[in-house]
Amino acid sequence: MAIHFNKRTHRNDELRAQHAGQSAILVGWVNSYRDHGGMVFIDLRDRGGITQVKFNPETDPKAHALARSLRNEDCVAVEGRVGLRGENVNPKLPTGEIEVEARALDVLSKSDATPFEIDDFTKANEDLRLQYRFLDLRRPSMQRVLRLRHDISKAVRDYFDQEGFLEIETPFLTKSTPEGARDYLVPSRLQPGHFYALPQSPQLFKQLFMVAGCDRYAQIVRCFRDEDLRADRQPEFTQIDLEMSFVDMDDVMTAVEGCVAAMFRAGRNIEVERPFPRVRFAEAVDRFGIDRPDTRFGLELTDVTEIVRGTEFKVFSGAIEAGGVAKCLCVKAAEGADKLTRKITDGLSEELKGIGAGGLPVTKVVEGQDGTELATGVAKFVQPVRDALCERVGAEPGDVMFFAAGPYNDVCKFLHHARTRLIEILQLKPSKPWELLWVVDFPMFEWDEQEQRYYSTHHPFTSPRDEDVALLDTDPAKVRAKAYDLVLNGTEMAGGSIRIHRRDIQQKVFKLLGISDEEAKEKFEFLMEALRFGPPPHGGIAFGLDRWVMLLADKESLRDVIAYPKTQRAVCPLTGAPGPVATGQLEELGIDLRPEVWAKLEQRPSGPDQHVHRKHDE
Ligand code: ASP
Repeated sequence: MAIHFNKRTHRNDELRAQHAGQSAILVGWVNSYRDHGGMVFIDLRDRGGITQVKFNPETDPKAHALARSLRNEDCVAVEGRVGLRGENVNPKLPTGEIEVEARALDVLSKSDATPFEIDDFTKANEDLRLQYRFLDLRRPSMQRVLRLRHDISKAVRDYFDQEGFLEIETPFLTKSTPEGARDYLVPSRLQPGHFYALPQSPQLFKQLFMVAGCDRYAQIVRCFRDEDLRADRQPEFTQIDLEMSFVDMDDVMTAVEGCVAAMFRAGRNIEVERPFPRVRFAEAVDRFGIDRPDTRFGLELTDVTEIVRGTEFKVFSGAIEAGGVAKCLCVKAAEGADKLTRKITDGLSEELKGIGAGGLPVTKVVEGQDGTELATGVAKFVQPVRDALCERVGAEPGDVMFFAAGPYNDVCKFLHHARTRLIEILQLKPSKPWELLWVVDFPMFEWDEQEQRYYSTHHPFTSPRDEDVALLDTDPAKVRAKAYDLVLNGTEMAGGSIRIHRRDIQQKVFKLLGISDEEAKEKFEFLMEALRFGPPPHGGIAFGLDRWVMLLADKESLRDVIAYPKTQRAVCPLTGAPGPVATGQLEELGIDLRPEVWAKLEQRPSGPDQHVHRKHDE
C-alpha cells in the first residue's frame, strides 16, 4: 500500500529521543546513501534538516530491497518507527539521537545524477549553481538564507503594522522615476512607440499616498535600475520603502531605528542600541574622506593646509595656491605602522594613481638624536614644518604619515581609498561588530564641473532645510537638504528625506536642476497637480532589503540572498533571460531591430510568433 505522503508526521529536523517508539511518516530527498553489508542507511533531507533512516533486510525485506535502488536526490516517502541510535549517536545533527527504522518506502520520483553535489561544500561554479538554482536552493545553507530572509521580512511587516503603516502596492508598469539610474523600458502594444518604465523606486506614488491622506505607508517592493552591475548590485532588487505625513526628520529616523532593531532581533537575536549616533555630512567627509564612514577604525584625516602652505614642496604648495587643501592620514605605531614596507606604500601609491591621484606622499616619524625626526619619502620637503605637523596630526615616533594635496573632493576621495586599503592591509580590528550611524545635513545639490550644472544629491523631491530656502536664489551650492542616510559599517544601507510639499519650491528646484517647464510638465505633471491640493508635509526613506539580509546572513554577495538572482551581465542563467523574441511579437509592438543588432543575434528566433496562451486576448 502506498504511503500517504500528505500525512507526513514530522519534518526531518523534528524527531528527538523523546519520540522513540512512535510511528512516523517522513518525506524528502535522499541526501546520502550507505549500504553497510546488510543494513541500508539513508539521510533524508527536507528544508528543515536531516533524519537518518535505516532499512533492515531481516525485519522489512521489501523496503530494504527497494532502498538498495535509491540514488542521491530521489524523492521518497518513508514510514517506520522511531528508534534510539544507542552508541551511534551523531552529536552534529539535531536529530542525531534517533533514526527511523523503515517499514515501508515509496519512491515518489527518481533523480538523474545532479550536475553538482547538493551540499554546503560544493565547489561548483556559480553559473552552474544559478542555472540549476532549484538544486542549489536544496542546500541547507541556502535554505537557511531563505528562512532568514522570510523572518526578517516578517519582522519588518509586523513592525510597520504595529506602528500604523499601511502596505499598499504601487505599479510596475509606470513612468520614469529619477533615482539616477537608467530605466528598464517595456514597449506598449496598444500604443506603439510608447513605453512604460519599470520603477526605479515608488518615490512619486508614495508621495501621492500622502496627498491622498494615507498618512503612513510601508511596502516591501521590487525596484528596477539598469546600471552597470558592480559586484553588489542587482538590476532588480527589493526595497523596504516608507513614507509618513506630518513628520520631520527625527520622526522618520526614529521609525527606521525601530525597524532596524526589529531586523537585528529577527536576523541575529541582537538588541541594537538606539538612537543611532548622527554625524554631519561635512564632518564625515572631513574626518574620513567619505559620506558613509566606517568610524570603527581610527585613521582619521587631519587638515594640514596651513602648515604645509609655505613649504617648497610644489606638490603641496602648488595645490594649495590653486585653491586646494592638504590632508594627512597618520597610521599609529600601535596600528602596525612598522608593517608598512616600501613595497606596500609604493603599491598604494600606484593604486591611487589608478583613481587619478599623482601618488601618495609618505614619510615616517622616527626617534632622532635631538627628538622626533622624519625619515624617508617626502621627509626632506616637510622637514621645516616637522614640529607643527607632528603636533597637529598627533604623530609620534613609529608612526607613518600619508598625504594628499589638491582640490578638496579629490583629496578626500584619495585618502578615503588609502584608509580603506590600509584597514585591509593592516588587518585592523573594528572597535565593535556593528556600527549604525546617521549621516545628516547633506548638501542639496552637487555641482558637475564638466557639465556645468547641478545634480540632486538625493533626488529632486528632497526638501531644503527651512533656514536655507532663501539660498536657493542666491547660493544653491550652500543649501542643505533635509536628507538622512543610514550607514552600517561603512556601507550606505538606507537613504531618505523630508520632501518638498510646496509647489513653488518644487518648481524652483526643477529649474535649478535644469529641468524645463515642458520637461517638468511631461514627466511630473501628476506630482505638480497633486501639490495643488493641500499636500501634507511628509517624508520617508527606503532601504535595500537584499543588502540587510546579506549582512545579517554573513554573506558576501547579494546573489547569495536572492532566490533567483542575475549575474553581473544581468543574465538569469536559470531561464536564460533576456532572450530574443519572435519577429511577430516585435511587429505587434511596432518595433524593428537595427540591422547591426540582427546581425549580432546568434540565431534569429524561430517558432510560433504568437504567445502560447492566446485565449485571454480573444
Ligand atoms: N526613493 C528613494 C530611493 O529609492 C528613497 C527615498 O527618498 O525614500 O533611494
